[in-house]
This record gives sequence, C-alpha cells and structure tokens, in this order.
Amino acid sequence: MFGLYIHIPFCAKICDYCDFHVMPAFPKLYQEYTDLLCREVEFFDAAHPGLLKTAQTLYLGGGTPSILPLDCLSQIFGCLRSLGVDVDSLKEVSMEFNPESTRKHTVEKALELGVRRFSLGLQTFDGNLLTTIGRSHSVEAGIQALDLLTSSGAQVSGDLMFNLPGQTVRSFLNDVDRLSDFNLNHISFYGLTVSPRSMLGQKVSKGLLNIDEDLYEEMYLNGVELLGRKGFERYEVSNFARPGYESIHNRNYWSRGEYAGFGPGAHSFWGNTRFYAPEMYPRWRDFVREGAPESRLTTDKLNDEDVLMELLWLSLRQSSGLDLQGLSSFGVRLPPSSYEKWLKKGFVSMENHDRLKLCGRGWIFMDEIVTDLANSYSELE
Ligand code: SF4
Repeated sequence: MFGLYIHIPFCAKICDYCDFHVMPAFPKLYQEYTDLLCREVEFFDAAHPGLLKTAQTLYLGGGTPSILPLDCLSQIFGCLRSLGVDVDSLKEVSMEFNPESTRKHTVEKALELGVRRFSLGLQTFDGNLLTTIGRSHSVEAGIQALDLLTSSGAQVSGDLMFNLPGQTVRSFLNDVDRLSDFNLNHISFYGLTVSPRSMLGQKVSKGLLNIDEDLYEEMYLNGVELLGRKGFERYEVSNFARPGYESIHNRNYWSRGEYAGFGPGAHSFWGNTRFYAPEMYPRWRDFVREGAPESRLTTDKLNDEDVLMELLWLSLRQSSGLDLQGLSSFGVRLPPSSYEKWLKKGFVSMENHDRLKLCGRGWIFMDEIVTDLANSYSELE
C-alpha cells in the first residue's frame, strides 16, 4: 500500500517535552509554507509520474495542521487533487488537531475538503499536569474540542500521555476512563520519553521535576485493561481501537508499506529506501526552491539485514505478532531456544506454532525481547 503524509510544522507553543521537527506558529510564514509544500509535491510528481495517484491514505500531521488558515488547507487539498489524488476515494484521510486550534469553521472546512478522521492531542485532563509539561491548552479547551470533533460525524482518535512528572496511576486511569466515555473509536497513549534536549529534560536533569519510572508498568497495564473492558482492543503497543477502526495509514508504516512524506524532515519509504528532506525550515525552503533535487535528500538504502531487523521490530510491536514462517524468505529462522525463556516467563505466546506475539508484561519489556530475538536468529541450513 502507498500512503501520503503532509507535515505542518507549526505549533501554538512548543511543549516542554517536544523533540519533533516543529517551530512556533508564525502566521506570516503560513502562505509561504503552503506554496513551498505544494511545489515540493509537484516536483515529486514530476520526478515520479503517476505515483501520487496510487495513494490509498492521506495523513496531515505535525506540528499542528489545525493551526493553518482555511485558505492554506484548501490550497493543499487543491494541489493534491490537481495532481490526480482522488481524495474522496482514499481509504482514510486523517488530520491532527490540537485543542487550542479546534474551531468549528476549521472542522467544517476539513470535512468539506475530504478529511474523515480527526486525531486530537489531549495528553491529559489534569490541569496541573498540562502546565507541568508546558501544553498551551486548558482542560476546558480539550473537552470543548472533543465535543466538537465527536459531534462532527467523522471518526475521532484521542491521544493521551502517561508517566508524566507527578502523575499518579489514579490520575492516568481517570484520563483513560474519561476519554473513552466520549463518542470516539480510537485512542493512543504514550509513555513520556524525556529528551535531554527538551525543556522538560533539562528540568528533570536539574532535579526540578521527577518522573517515577516504577509507575510505568502499572499505568500501562492497567490502562490497557481498562480500555479492553470498554471495547478498545490494542492493535499496536500504544494504539487501541474499537474493531474496524484501526488507523490504516499508521498500520501501513508498521507493515513496511510504502509512503511519501512532504515538508521539512518528513520521511518517505519506497523501493527499499528510506529518505527525508532537510529538517531545518530554511534548508528545506532552499531545497524546494532548488527544485527538490534527490541529491539533497538523506537516503538510507536497506540491505537484507536491515529489512529483517525492521520486520522483527515492526511485527512484534503489533498485536498480530511475528510470522516465523515469513523469516524463511530471508534465509533465516528463530530457533525455539531463542524465545523459550520468554514463553516460560509468559512474556510471549505462540499461536498456531508459527506466530509469536507479545503478551502480558512482555509489552513492558518489548525492547529487551526484540533485541534478544534480533541477536538470536540463525541461518537456514
Ligand atoms: S503540540 Fe505536539 S508537535 Fe507541537 S510542540 Fe507540542 S508536542 Fe510538539
């Protein structure tokens, strides 16, 4: 499957934990950015005639796509349509929103343009925690945004975070419970990753904030259990959906499907090569003005070993697990001795003798288990 990703790098305020390629909202740049983005897509289409038309999903992420003026959003969709992307026939068209920029006219415009799935970054319903992590929205704004999006008729996904500084297990489970009571069909929750470069990382390293890592497991496992009771099944380590509402676009990433990304630092993958354009805005702007030459892309051509490692990591992070028979196409196998200890611990399970899946506490030790398996495969005789 082939998917399209459009990156909108602006945010109302840079959150204290953020480590993404984003920049503060700068309204004077919105039009310039939109023009450049469309030119980048057009250059891509000229270099790869017909490829855009094969897309089956479209995802506007960031950053904060909902911050863009309506004219700019219309221009982006107009550009894609003019190049043959049949937005109305795509399997999924998603757009990320943040509460402070979720307004009625933006929601209506997005629907008119063909967006059918909204993803809202809430992170928590606890006002003190929102302040601690430097989010720009209030609890009330989050609830209003949820009300607006869930009454629009589109599919809605909500994002939460856990293991935040000062967060209790009760507080996190209250967030999960509260969010799942809204009329939505998809929820993601992510444990906070503290980047030393972020403002929050600096506060943690100076001892001004403390994260109790011992609570991680209790929060995650209880959050999964609570969502399960409320009809949301885990289909990836951090993603939960009512049956039939899994994200098609994101599943394509985890299935090593192909995609093209546009905007500074947006990643693309096809023909066994991963690549991305310059990450810093001024460099990306120069790149587009020069005609988006492939020579300025950062590329990583994958060899068989790289592909195998990706397959292990991406398969095991999904509930569908790893197809052991499929490894034979790489000329390798996982000897039973490599996963028996994890089976005995109850961290993985085996289905039909050929599908290995994480289970129970295994999801907490995912990195350790996959690293261990990745070091244990042997060549087929
Ligand atoms: S909204 Fe998301 S992308 Fe924007 S600054 Fe906050 S964490 Fe970063």
